[in-house]
Amino acid sequence: MSDTSRPKPLPVITEENRPFWEGCKRGVLLLQYCEVCQRYQFYPRLYCMQCGANALRWEQASGRGVIYSYTIIRQNKSPEFVNDTPYNVAIIQLEEGPRLMSNIVEAAPEALRVDLPVTVVFDPVSDAITLPRFRLI
Ligand SMILES: [Zn+2]
Repeated sequence: MSDTSRPKPLPVITEENRPFWEGCKRGVLLLQYCEVCQRYQFYPRLYCMQCGANALRWEQASGRGVIYSYTIIRQNKSPEFVNDTPYNVAIIQLEEGPRLMSNIVEAAPEALRVDLPVTVVFDPVSDAITLPRFRLI
């Protein structure tokens, strides 16, 4: 028997990403926005990856995007995930520009296609962490 009670690994909150995770907990998807080059970035960092400025502020994202790429996981021997298969891992192209890795919820594997529009949903998985996942729209 596998130990399916072992908790799943969760993101680690740092000073750089704390606003992002606090936003998710409130049901808001936040992205860093560079006031110099006027671009969004994800994941959170101390400096803008485009121009190097540290003039970053947090902005609420629309939560909308499209599936940029995805895969269906049909086998995962890790005890934390063995009962989840099949499940998907998707890269979401957000309207604001950045891409983030997540899952599409409430969708059969056959329903997924590149470029399908999605919107964010928030999945509280622990006291501290609410994961942004996406559903088809
Ligand atoms: Zn910049």
